[in-house]
Amino acid sequence: MILTQPTVTGRFAPSPTGRMHLGNIFTALLSWLSVRKRGGRWILRIEDLDPQRSKYQWVEMIEADLQWLGLDWDEGGLADTGPSAPYSQSRRNSHYIAALESLKATGLVYPCYCTRADLLATNAPHQSDGRVVYGGKCRPSALPCAWAEPQRQAACRLHVTPDFTADFVDQVYGVQRIDVAESCGDFIVRRADGAWAYQLAVVVDDIAMGVNEIMRGCDLLSSVGQQSYLRSLLGAGEPAHAHLPLICNADGRRLSKRDSSLAMDALRERYSPSELLGVLGHLAGLCKNNAPTSLAQLVEAYDVNKIPRTEKILINDLYGV
Ligand code: GLU
Repeated sequence: MILTQPTVTGRFAPSPTGRMHLGNIFTALLSWLSVRKRGGRWILRIEDLDPQRSKYQWVEMIEADLQWLGLDWDEGGLADTGPSAPYSQSRRNSHYIAALESLKATGLVYPCYCTRADLLATNAPHQSDGRVVYGGKCRPSALPCAWAEPQRQAACRLHVTPDFTADFVDQVYGVQRIDVAESCGDFIVRRADGAWAYQLAVVVDDIAMGVNEIMRGCDLLSSVGQQSYLRSLLGAGEPAHAHLPLICNADGRRLSKRDSSLAMDALRERYSPSELLGVLGHLAGLCKNNAPTSLAQLVEAYDVNKIPRTEKILINDLYGV
């Protein structure tokens, strides 16, 4: 019997809230290389759940910057082609509603009326990353229980059963274990104003789009806990995970929209595509130096084991910027 490997399906899932910077394109490139090395599919999903901050013009710039570097996608983007269309989260409401219905059917979702002040006043411990563990003010005394239609505007909060741990091997950072009840507690899947939580949307979309390799910044490593819990309740298996070091500026802070010298418009003025590929390939540990290179050479050189296992890559160490 011949066993065929499933096609690798990766995705780049930017939030179109500004011009991409070196860190965003670093993530996009590595995910693209990983997929292309094995002849897989690469999806461009637009994470525009925040209507105030997401702008069409930024989606156009994201596409232009990816194309400038030669990163092509098989599904999604503005053309919105592919079997899982639409690929913009703002147009995927029906998928999130269906997922929420099946979560409610588990009896673990309850209405939560807590305000921000209530949450801050809770005695629950704060995690080192500033997250507050939900103290349980609105949690029904016995769970699972039937969903109670709220009398006034309420968020939908999902109970995390204490027996759940997310055990996985990150391809970059190795063996991980996340106790979701302890590190995060019950979490919001839909906000009181009707907005979908990132955790729910990302999981629903990754499942629906057949994504089986998730590569993104290591700031999202802890999210695997909630995402893995949601997957287990929605009956989906685990994808492969590879989190990536964050590119940081001279102060050691991760790049933000304020670091304009490392935004794609400045980088495109300063470098040609092959020069920027040389810089990125060097930062990723794929090339000995930052000499100009091509995508074909980087595909050849790509190996997840070469990616530095640090949380941060300080750009100034190498380039004095
Ligand atoms: N939209 C998220 C971001 O731009 C990425 C989400 C993900 O890769 O899971 O940070």
